[in-house]
Amino acid sequence: MDYKIALLPGDGIGPEVTEAAVKIIDLVANKFNVQVSYKNFDIGGVCYEKHNTPLIEETLEGCYNADAVFLGAVGGPKWENLPHHNKPEAALLKLREKLELFANIRPASVYPSMLDNSTLKREVLEGTEFIVLRELTGGIYFGKPRGIDEEKGWNTMVYSTEEVERIAVKAFEMAMKRDKVVTSVDKANVLEVSQFWRNVVERVHKDFPSIKLNHMYVDNAAMQIVRDPKQFDVILTSNIFGDIISDISGMITGSLGMLPSASIGNKYSLYEPVHGSAPDIAGQNKANPIAAISSAAMMFNHSFDMAKAAEIIEKGITKTLDAGYRTVDIAGDESKIVTTTELTSMISENIVKIFTEEAIGVFLL
Ligand code: NAD
Repeated sequence: MDYKIALLPGDGIGPEVTEAAVKIIDLVANKFNVQVSYKNFDIGGVCYEKHNTPLIEETLEGCYNADAVFLGAVGGPKWENLPHHNKPEAALLKLREKLELFANIRPASVYPSMLDNSTLKREVLEGTEFIVLRELTGGIYFGKPRGIDEEKGWNTMVYSTEEVERIAVKAFEMAMKRDKVVTSVDKANVLEVSQFWRNVVERVHKDFPSIKLNHMYVDNAAMQIVRDPKQFDVILTSNIFGDIISDISGMITGSLGMLPSASIGNKYSLYEPVHGSAPDIAGQNKANPIAAISSAAMMFNHSFDMAKAAEIIEKGITKTLDAGYRTVDIAGDESKIVTTTELTSMISENIVKIFTEEAIGVFLL
């Protein structure tokens, strides 16, 4: 196999964490005997500096021609006062729209040695392993009419059958490879659009009889995630509810520098750490590369159908954290503080060790 990856490093720490992810992708691809090739494209502030716009046609074309897109981060104080359509963040929204990335996946789990880093109690967190699947291109963020005048402001939350069906199918397909439970989160007791969402999800569910489907109101879901997160496997929800639910779930991991994400559509997929360009630490070799490396693991899993490769990357991260190595953002009193490049090298060395151990394990069987 030969996979083409479009790399969009972007601004701030974007290039630093992208470089870390590439190092791990190269290593794992090599071990699994698959070829990967990269092409770099401009996006965000760096793109604006060169081309007077944060997203150029060449970048879009590069994404259309790739098997997967990997993005670092965009934005920074230098471009904060530009008109909205020229802001680096506008490029990201446009890219998601152009690539029709209608499903956003954010895993919520915690590395064992990080259990005490979260604001939630260890016993509440232990064993938590769910994903939030958020509808990304519809709902109230895009619905029309929308507007504002002197007396009022208004937005419209609307979903079509097709929009709900395609994300519901993704949720059930993902649950098939996991613990086979989907919790659809809505506000069907108040909103007609949510009742419609629920009806469509139930219809789609008929094609996946082995999956258990629960419905939960969004207010209750927000509470349940911090009360008993272990009960969830796949949370399926709309754009606005997913925006909030995925940030609450992010607290489980305990740090922004650890949160990976994938945005997928029927044709294209984009992987990126959840964090931004962190201008305060950019260029200092201090950024936590784990969110980016874990996003690369998601790429192996979802775009290349290489679940084993993803698992080995995650094991490499776990082993490194277990040994007490941390970047500054997640360091505790007992931690050994290392730089971005040092942590990446340690993860890389641990991945090599895991390959060797697993090869020996297979041999002994
Ligand atoms: P941010 O995520 O960049 O940073 C928030 C805080 O977390 C900072 O103190 C930063 O140092 C820290 N942090 C973030 N990622 C880290 C990492 N990997 N390792 C260590 N520390 C990390 O959010 P912000 O400061 O609100 O935004 C900065 C810029 O990034 C803004 O221009 C914003 O619009 C943009 N942004 C971009 C994206 C994206 O590209 N997807 C997402 C969010 C924000």
